[in-house]
Amino acid sequence: MTNPAGWADPPALDPAYDLWTSEHDALRAQVAAWIAEQIVPHVETWELTGATPRELFSEAGRAGIFGWKLPASIGGNGPDFLADAVIAEELGACGAGGVAAALGAHKDLGPYYIWRFGTDEQRAAYVPRFLRGELIGALGVTEPDAGSDVAGLRTRAVRDGSDWILDGAKTFITNGGWADVLVIAALTDPEKGGHHGLSLFLVERADPGFSSRRISTLGWRTSSTAELTFDAVRLPADRLLGGVQMLDRGFAAIMHNFQWERLGMALGAVRAASEILALAGATLTPQVATGLSAEVLAARALTYRALRGYVAGQDMVRETSMAKWYACDLDVRVCEAALAAAGPAGLRAGRLERALRDARLGPIGGGTTQIMKEVIGRGYGLQPGVLSRWTTQVRALGCRSIWRDPPPAVCFCPLPLCWVGARCCLPRGQPRRRRACGSRHRRRCAQRRGAPRAGAPAQRRAHHRS
Ligand SMILES: Cc1cc2nc3c(=O)[nH]c(=O)nc-3n(C[C@H](O)[C@H](O)[C@H](O)COP(=O)(O)OP(=O)(O)OC[C@H]3O[C@@H](n4cnc5c(N)ncnc54)[C@H](O)[C@@H]3O)c2cc1C
Repeated sequence: MTNPAGWADPPALDPAYDLWTSEHDALRAQVAAWIAEQIVPHVETWELTGATPRELFSEAGRAGIFGWKLPASIGGNGPDFLADAVIAEELGACGAGGVAAALGAHKDLGPYYIWRFGTDEQRAAYVPRFLRGELIGALGVTEPDAGSDVAGLRTRAVRDGSDWILDGAKTFITNGGWADVLVIAALTDPEKGGHHGLSLFLVERADPGFSSRRISTLGWRTSSTAELTFDAVRLPADRLLGGVQMLDRGFAAIMHNFQWERLGMALGAVRAASEILALAGATLTPQVATGLSAEVLAARALTYRALRGYVAGQDMVRETSMAKWYACDLDVRVCEAALAAAGPAGLRAGRLERALRDARLGPIGGGTTQIMKEVIGRGYGLQPGVLSRWTTQVRALGCRSIWRDPPPAVCFCPLPLCWVGARCCLPRGQPRRRRACGSRHRRRCAQRRGAPRAGAPAQRRAHHRS
């Protein structure tokens, strides 16, 4: 991956490190004790009030929870990405997805962007206070009309003298309702589009024209998921994250940070799944319990593989996407199995019921499972854009459900990962989804069936009927 000068990348660690040292084990015990004391006893109350108290951020700051990716020179206690991974894992076991999300978004998103892509002045102005938990941070990328497609953002920042005027809206922003400083993605050059015309800005809660509104969500109720509105928010030049050097480079920055964000989610999901499995334990049938245990081990191995490569400085986009997809989906399956085994008691408000609601948000936040599969497909050399074009077509036709189906056993399509194709190429007499069949694909099918390349309308109809 390209890395413009000045971006603080994870340092390559000693390959013999092979993940955890005795220091990491000690840190794990320390963090687990901190969580048991500061979080676990209050989870039920916080779930009812729907908030993670601000004091928890300061407590976490005092306990050094936020500083492991950053050096001592700025107030951190690293850089040690493995130590940060330990924190992500332990937070996954705290019993409240919302608390883990609120602290995680603070640790890995807004404030970390400022450290990673900000100027020295911006770092000095904000980062130490973030690390102490005096300020709360958030990252605002997703918009009402652009989530998976980051390049499709519409929020605009227009120059006015040396200032910028920000207009637009964001949605589903973790910590959005209470963050003091937010890193916001906005188009600075619409001509170049989202890939090359996107920049990041620092917005403070008190800025005139900025407002937020809490969204009620299925899970993560102790985090503040919010909609943000920017109505002609005037930002001085020094609020452009990274200064002019980072102008129009926001998209690359977002993509660059996705790896750690997704890895953190995978680490937390594996830990959460193993906790619920241990909790459900005897209530599960041996077959279900052993099957899920094997899957948790597999998910952990996959996630650690991505982690090991990441800290060694390798490009782990494909592996982190695999880990995020597999671990977050597994967490949901483990919670569902535990809930099913518990019978009606599992439906009562409490640990299991909350675990399932919280787990269900994992496959959506930070990039959906479907998008993870797209990224993995591209990592295997699938022609960029082919999947997107087809899925856009499929979605436009209202056939979204096919993405939730398991991949077909037999696909005659020459392209890998073609799920649309399998349905279109089913043998004679079998049910098919006619509307999911794109015209490009129809042509290929027609070719394989010996029909002329550009079939006449009658021939295309015949293909669907046969
Ligand atoms: C609790 C929570 C917290 C969040 N926190 C933040 C945050 O702090 N900051 C932030 O910026 N965002 C945040 N998000 C937003 C999150 O990143 C987006 O929800 C996610 O990227 C999906 O975007 P979307 O919701 O717009 O769905 P869409 O992009 O509209 O997708 C809808 C459905 O279509 C599928 N789909 C879309 N495109 C394709 C494709 N090409 N191929 C196949 N299927 C496709 C998706 O998988 C999904 O199932 C949060 C979301 C949640 C739920």
